[in-house]
Amino acid sequence: MADLNTPVRYLKGIGEKKALALNKLGVFSLYDLISFFPRKYEDRSRICPIAAAPEGEGVCIRAMVADVPRLSRIRLGMDLVKLRAVDDSGSVDITFFNQSYAKDNLHRGESYNFFGRMEFKGGRRCMANPVYEPVERAGQVTGRIVPVYRLSSGLNQRSIMQAVRQGLDCCLETLPDALPEDVRRRCRLAQVRYAYENIHFPPDFEALELARRRLIFEELFVLSCALGSMHRQRSRDEGIRLRPVDMDRFWASLPFRPTQAQLRAVGQAAEDMCSGAVMNRLIQGDVGSGKTLAAAALIWLCAENGYMSAFMAPTEILAQQHYDTLSSMLSPFGLRVGKLTGSMGAREKRLIKAQLQKGELDLIIGTHALFSQDVEYSKLALVVTDEQHRFGVNQRSALISKGGRPHVLVMSATPIPRTLALIIYGDLDISVIDQLPPGRQKVDTFAVDESYRARLNGFIRKQVQEGRQVFVVCPMVEENEELNIKLKSAQEHAAQLSALFPDMKVACIHGKMKAKDKDDTMSAFVAGDIQILVATTVIEVGVDVPNASLMIVENADRFGLSQLHQLRGRVGRGQHKSYCILVSDNDSPEVKSRLNIMCKTGDGFKISEEDLRLRGPGDFFGSRQHGLPEMHVADLGADVNVLQQAQEESRRLLESDPGLQLPEHRILRDKVEQLYKANSAGFN
Ligand code: ADP
Ligand code: MG
Repeated sequence: MADLNTPVRYLKGIGEKKALALNKLGVFSLYDLISFFPRKYEDRSRICPIAAAPEGEGVCIRAMVADVPRLSRIRLGMDLVKLRAVDDSGSVDITFFNQSYAKDNLHRGESYNFFGRMEFKGGRRCMANPVYEPVERAGQVTGRIVPVYRLSSGLNQRSIMQAVRQGLDCCLETLPDALPEDVRRRCRLAQVRYAYENIHFPPDFEALELARRRLIFEELFVLSCALGSMHRQRSRDEGIRLRPVDMDRFWASLPFRPTQAQLRAVGQAAEDMCSGAVMNRLIQGDVGSGKTLAAAALIWLCAENGYMSAFMAPTEILAQQHYDTLSSMLSPFGLRVGKLTGSMGAREKRLIKAQLQKGELDLIIGTHALFSQDVEYSKLALVVTDEQHRFGVNQRSALISKGGRPHVLVMSATPIPRTLALIIYGDLDISVIDQLPPGRQKVDTFAVDESYRARLNGFIRKQVQEGRQVFVVCPMVEENEELNIKLKSAQEHAAQLSALFPDMKVACIHGKMKAKDKDDTMSAFVAGDIQILVATTVIEVGVDVPNASLMIVENADRFGLSQLHQLRGRVGRGQHKSYCILVSDNDSPEVKSRLNIMCKTGDGFKISEEDLRLRGPGDFFGSRQHGLPEMHVADLGADVNVLQQAQEESRRLLESDPGLQLPEHRILRDKVEQLYKANSAGFN
């Protein structure tokens, strides 16, 4: 019996080279090895009659070798073993390239399981390089469900499989169970040993599902416990206690009435800030739901109390835009608003910093320059940030060291279903603005294929001639992308449009550009100097260009619904009638129905519910926008029920044992602490 921390090198068959190859996959210890879950599975459990094997698919057959295998050299360094195998239904020609040992392993008159891809050539069935096992000893690589692992060079499936098998055999017994027994029973989850065995080597799909469910639950449960205990910890932290102020004085100054949802969110946040504890609240609301206004109300509340606020934006342009809007909302009340960004001149910066230190400003808006070392605040009560800037631990302590313990308000424009929000943002209190201000125009949305290209180009021309601007979004081309999928790359597409519309200014913006160049291009678009902006998803973040009226998304099937919704939110922000065109040549019914949802509804929450239903939460977890640790769950695919249960159970547990102090929760507490440690930079 070996220890879970034993290096993989200890295993039979794992020499120095293979150990290094495993290290490359993040596998160092035996525990890492057995936690290295398969990427997918191949069903080799069903034996198919030769005559019934479909062409081009991997099948498992059981057949007798009908003649003596023949070895021949085709050319230098290339040899070939050929044989014929038969079953009751027919025969197949089997060939092995450069596996001369097959000649000695396979014997005439004996039966084997073969797994390989069945091909038809000249009216005959054939199979090249199948894996095989004698029938009496079958059950390792044929006749069962076989795991498929991620590989690195120097490893093949068989060697990983054998290593995992050994790993399980020598340490499964010592594997501790992090789930409390009563939770496991109540949720009808498999035991940890069963789960680890069957996620690798399931005898059938039922066992696999039981294993998968248990592991997903555990991961989400540990995460929920971590978030939940942070939440508990924080809500005990003492914060600046504000005096309640009648908010109607602020609302009355507006040219319109706040929505019920805005009032509710502001009310909840104001209550936090007057409670004496530190606020950590997320305001979630669709694009255009009026989050900035809600923030403005709270900034005003702080100013009425004699405190200042800081508003952090992810880019210079956004800082500028927020500066403009917030100044116009707040200066009528005499609030003093300043701006601090990296690109400002040294003199200007010095001036602002001096004002901050002396407490001469009520609101400062800026990029992360706001938290550089030499900035000092006087009487800072509120920090408003974008969801992309959920603070890491380091930033948080930088903030705290800047005096006081400011309240934190995070704003998110990504509507996500409640269940998921509770997991992803479990450490924050959540307010939802689920209502748009009255009189919003709907963005007309259409899903089209390539046959509309000419009309689409005509439509671009028409919009630009009317003085409008156009966004075109192309999917990010991944470096490891298979070459046979034809994707529009932003740069190529921009060149084409540029040739097509020589009288217009076309520009391209993509992830590999320097931040400064991106900002410059974006500013030129905001200023109206560019008519057509071709981009990868970098424009998702909330830049406001009221004159843009047309959003075209190329290869729209490559985007998640929530992402498409974010993109669509870039238009329809001014008084002009706006359109969103989703271009895709993929005519699978699944894609069509997804894109159709976009055409039918403009409600971000509804769309994200659909996204969750259709694609599972993997996409939400996978997008890594939330600052959470990377999870296996995204690979395994969780379902909504498991998500909900894990959340409920973690809450129940923390209520009965808030610090996870009980001895039976020790393993769980260790896991929660590991999660903190491993993620102390990004995970707040
Ligand atoms: P978000 O930040 O949620 O995308 P904003 O706060 O930028 O939304 O608001 C979008 C637009 O709607 C702004 O022009 C804002 O002035 C306007 N707005 C906000 N609240 C209301 C309201 N209650 N009634 C009418 N217009 C509103
Ligand atoms: Mg906004």
